[in-house]
Amino acid sequence: MPELPDVEGFRRVLAQHAVDRPITRVEVLDPQVLRDTSPRQLTTALPGTDLAKPRRYGKWLMAPVHQPGHRHGKDDPTLVFHFGMTGSLIWNDAAGEPLHPHDRLVFAMEDGELRYRDMRKLQGVRLTGNDHDVEVLLSDLGPDAKDLSLAEFRDRLQGVRRQLKAALTDQSVLAGLGNLLTDEILWRAGLHPRHLTTDLSSSDVARLHEELHDVLRVSIRRGCVPPDDSWLTGWRDQPEAPCPRCGTPLRRMHLGGRATVWCPHCQPAP
Ligand SMILES: [Zn+2]
Repeated sequence: MPELPDVEGFRRVLAQHAVDRPITRVEVLDPQVLRDTSPRQLTTALPGTDLAKPRRYGKWLMAPVHQPGHRHGKDDPTLVFHFGMTGSLIWNDAAGEPLHPHDRLVFAMEDGELRYRDMRKLQGVRLTGNDHDVEVLLSDLGPDAKDLSLAEFRDRLQGVRRQLKAALTDQSVLAGLGNLLTDEILWRAGLHPRHLTTDLSSSDVARLHEELHDVLRVSIRRGCVPPDDSWLTGWRDQPEAPCPRCGTPLRRMHLGGRATVWCPHCQPAP
């Protein structure tokens, strides 16, 4: 499932290939991925326009639209992506590259194509009318998890009395963390997923904050939460997997509907 680091990867795809190059054609292969937007809106509004520098917030990716030779203004539309469980953004250099069965939208440019690919179509793509619409869309989100200060992190956690796993994956508390990042960060910090946010000591919060940034820094560079052997993520999908730190068999449970993996030795129950 795409989380903050994956969406950073998609932001880099856009920034490297699609900025300030006129869109020549838009193909809507599957209108089910469009949100509050008709196929006609995309295919008529976008050709001839350029995308400005993209911006990520939480798991959302925004590509402001502008007319060639002009800057994006607050009354210009923005192309907004959310990748749900299985979405991705792919650049194809060679025009004519065969379509993937899950390619849903194609944004053609002179020297290639940007493709929105998504198997399950749980979220999707929209074209907002102006910048205010983007603000409204993002208004329920908490602060972005990247570059979050320790003081703000502490405030967010103390503002909700919740189990850690539920609090950290709630986008209105913090924007950007999903299942993999949260389990990884809790495992590194040695905190049980059911630990209550309001029962954390000051040093627990500081350790959690430090691990949050360490995990994000590496994951953003890699464009995903790396499934490395020294990471919990490298083992979480294997049955009977040992904790990569202490060798104790990992445990799993469903917490708030999410598959949760932890080490009973490194993360004792509160
Ligand atoms: Zn362990």
